[in-house]
Amino acid sequence: MGVAGFVKTTLQDWEGKSSCLISLGGCNLRCPYCNRPGLMERGGDMDTAPILGYIKENRDFLEAAVVSGGEPTMDEGLYRLLGELKKLKLKVKVDTNGCFPDVLDDIVGARLADKVCVNVMAPLDDASYSRAAGTEVDARLIRRSLDILRGSEAPYEIRTVIVPGVVTHESFVRMLKDLDGTRSMVIQQFDPRGAAGPMASAVPYPVPALVRMAETAKGYIERVRVRGV
Ligand code: SF4
Repeated sequence: MGVAGFVKTTLQDWEGKSSCLISLGGCNLRCPYCNRPGLMERGGDMDTAPILGYIKENRDFLEAAVVSGGEPTMDEGLYRLLGELKKLKLKVKVDTNGCFPDVLDDIVGARLADKVCVNVMAPLDDASYSRAAGTEVDARLIRRSLDILRGSEAPYEIRTVIVPGVVTHESFVRMLKDLDGTRSMVIQQFDPRGAAGPMASAVPYPVPALVRMAETAKGYIERVRVRGV
């Protein structure tokens, strides 16, 4: 199990829920704008026992756990961790990049997640996706993950970071066409803090550009929110 980070309480990672955040190290993608570059490589070695102990002790105010990354569905210990969190009667959200549909299918099928958030970063074709992800991606995997979630009872949402130079209004509209019928989307403002390399000095789009994207998104998606502005 590669636990690389633990935040005891956060109100930002699951809207309306007092949550803890468990981050698993390691990711198959190399997004140039990643704001957790330290979690791309495997290497988390935190012991889960004290984390679960803390949750147990503070269960009266902690409603939920968010399991994030890196990419948590790469970690073989994920099922066990989710099972332990469910035993503690927490609501559980899993954040994923959607590249491992079989794992997602198992998690959703076993009702180990009460919510799934998929980071979708580009239109769902190999060329666009690979450019955004900084490595080769078979976009059919992301499509399959989305199909699994559409066919499941688990609530899910799409999160898209509006990265300058990576997401344009035109590419965003193409992406929306691929996501047509999705119930919930978060349009996330890019935050250069924490990004590595040239992206650390990239200037986020002005707020009106994100608001315009949100208005466009409402033509395809039921519930659209803008976050981080
Ligand atoms: S999928 Fe997420 S964790 Fe992985 S490189 Fe991209 S932004 Fe970073």
